[in-house]
Amino acid sequence: MRTICPKDSPPKGGREVFGRFAPSPTGRMHLGNVFCALLSWLSAKSQGGDWRLRIEDLDPQRSRRSYAMQLQEDLLWLGLPWDGEVVWQSERNDIYLHYLQMLKDAGLTYPCFCSRADIMATQAPHETDGRIVYAGTCRGKILDEMEKNTPAAIRLIVPDEVITFQDGHYGEQKVNLAEHCGDYILRRKDGAWAYQLAVVVDDALMGVTEVVRGRDLLLSTPQQIHLRQTIESLSPRHKGGVRGGLHFFHHPLLVNESGQRLCKRDLSMDLGVLQEKHTSPKEIIGRLAYLAGIIPETTPILPQDLLPFFAWQKVPTEDILIRFDRSLT
Ligand SMILES: [Zn+2]
Repeated sequence: MRTICPKDSPPKGGREVFGRFAPSPTGRMHLGNVFCALLSWLSAKSQGGDWRLRIEDLDPQRSRRSYAMQLQEDLLWLGLPWDGEVVWQSERNDIYLHYLQMLKDAGLTYPCFCSRADIMATQAPHETDGRIVYAGTCRGKILDEMEKNTPAAIRLIVPDEVITFQDGHYGEQKVNLAEHCGDYILRRKDGAWAYQLAVVVDDALMGVTEVVRGRDLLLSTPQQIHLRQTIESLSPRHKGGVRGGLHFFHHPLLVNESGQRLCKRDLSMDLGVLQEKHTSPKEIIGRLAYLAGIIPETTPILPQDLLPFFAWQKVPTEDILIRFDRSLT
């Protein structure tokens, strides 16, 4: 079994900051995606670091190769080039399998046969923020012969303890995994890899030292920290494997006038539509840099010219309203 892909080995010597942008190719980039890419690029590059691109194309129903190719074109058009080869999650099945097996062998996983309806039936009525907390129904279950041959999701056993971490932008965060999410899925019943496993393994093997992403993922970070620590503890001498420190910086979200984060339905924020209106990449970058507090007014500018002005202290923590009905400039 392939365990480590040579090009995944953490970089040796030279630059010490490795950022990354990890989009899912499920449509054209919108300004929310560009905002994330820009902040991530500026954070890594302003420290003299590298910036890697990873295509998170694990969902075969929603991911398209054509979107991924368009995404690369868009990043170059915006002036946000990446370093090294593009990493495709869809090509890393053997790697994820290796780490899942390691967790299974350590007795840290179990199969779950619950349907969505079963899980929803166990949810407390006060949980209104959309989170689903798995109650551990299948943990410790003795499998009968039929179940042994039935496809099941694989869940990770999480500890009933508080995980604390320091976010570079939002400060100290504390989450009890058992209360926040419960034992969570590493591999779905249909065989698809869960985001949490893939992202932890990839960030580690790619030598990523800095993750910049939207604050909607802030409270899922402890899941990833715990999984990474678990994998590290199981493979302390794993050559070129999961080692090293990782810093998180979450950023505020761009929201529409209803206060909702931008999404693919917000067509006026779609790069394709903006290009049709002859909006230049410098105008887009200038507008987003202004909204991020990096420059005092909206002015067309290249990402590289923002580097001397970038500082996380300038970026607000509250979400940022971006209007539909006004020109970008
Ligand atoms: Zn279950």
